[in-house]
Amino acid sequence: MEYGQGTKCVQAGYTPKTGEPRVLPIIQSTTFKYDTSEAMGKLFDLEASGYFYTRLQNPTSDCVAAKLTALEGGTAGMLTSSGQAANLFAVFNIAGAGDHVVACSAIYGGTFNLFAVTMKKMGVDFTFVTPDSTEEELNAAFRPNTKALFGETIANPALAVLDIELYARVAHAHGVPLIVDNTFATPVNCRPIEWGADIVTHSTTKYLDGHATSVGGAIVDGGKFDWMAHADRFPGLTTPDESYHGIVYAEKFGKEGAFIYKCVAQLMRDFGSTPSPFNAFLLNLGMETLHVRMPRHCANAQAVAEFLSGHEKVAWVEYCGLPGDKYYELGKKYLPNGSCGVLSFGVKGGRAAAEKFMKNLKLAAIVTHVADARTCILHPASSTHRQLTDEELEAGGVAPDMMRLSVGIEDVGDIIADLSAALECI
Ligand SMILES: *Cc1c(COP(=O)(O)O)cnc(C)c1O
Repeated sequence: MEYGQGTKCVQAGYTPKTGEPRVLPIIQSTTFKYDTSEAMGKLFDLEASGYFYTRLQNPTSDCVAAKLTALEGGTAGMLTSSGQAANLFAVFNIAGAGDHVVACSAIYGGTFNLFAVTMKKMGVDFTFVTPDSTEEELNAAFRPNTKALFGETIANPALAVLDIELYARVAHAHGVPLIVDNTFATPVNCRPIEWGADIVTHSTTKYLDGHATSVGGAIVDGGKFDWMAHADRFPGLTTPDESYHGIVYAEKFGKEGAFIYKCVAQLMRDFGSTPSPFNAFLLNLGMETLHVRMPRHCANAQAVAEFLSGHEKVAWVEYCGLPGDKYYELGKKYLPNGSCGVLSFGVKGGRAAAEKFMKNLKLAAIVTHVADARTCILHPASSTHRQLTDEELEAGGVAPDMMRLSVGIEDVGDIIADLSAALECI
């Protein structure tokens, strides 16, 4: 029997045998002991499965990856030390120097920089398409050497909702997988694989951890993309890997396991972006309550969005739960139970009014973070982007009065009272 998402949040990934710890133990050990060299050699050759060095795999981290894989409805998964590492690995696993990737332009700033600057230096070329591109516009961005299409379920911070079915159809028509960063929605509110996505990534730093204790990331493979059917396009998966005794990942591990095995055996081995077992343990604790926290984040954010959109000093609010929002319809389709706790809004009076508003908040903390239990807020124009003029901000798609509010799981009356008092000060 397939358990529901709530049961999986609490119990998936770790099933103790009789006499074993009830709670997922922290295996805080870099290495694992074997009786013979031959036994260890089999692990190195991927002939047998088992642990030998935590840079590659660790039992605690693997249990947490298995929980997330179950939640996303995937076939294999892995943790990484950050969301940045997850997106780097997910793309670099199938696209190297001389290759090309199409990505939605409405993505996390760190991911945009990773793609447009750092991966470009590594020889991977990106074409960015707007989130509202038509099928024809998406098709036009593809080239013969395109290896993947990338987008975010709910874009951070643009809050655009991805038309996953459309993106998957276009990707598959060009014989490449769709990679979706599902950080903001979480598998409680959306399971991209069910809509056609092939690979799902996460910054687990956000809602999955939920308490802002641990930076982390994850990759989950839906196990449906047929690498062998496109063998020429993905030689890394379909031809022998000489650094692993000539293993052909797609032959040895099939559609279900090839992507993650390759990603661990090559990229984790060589780049070493491994999470600590202790952080994986904390992530697991967070995920045990994900299904309880997400509905509260969404209900609070919905109430806050409605309060702000009815306030005379508020110029605009973006939240896909508001009827009339640009992404309301896509939200209804892909996020019927709610989107996330993050919304953005602007106040009348521009940059100066926003700065005044920020100064007068008491409960909402000013931090460069989103998506944890505590309500927090960021005004890019007076913090992360303060060196830019209003004109430069607008050119970069950041309104001078734009504030990104991450609504927590406190009592919503207290959150609204805090916002209301600060608005009165403008
Ligand atoms: C935060 C974030 C990232 C980067 O994750 P880190 O854990 O900070 O490295 C990637 N994608 C999205 C959507 C994010 O919100």
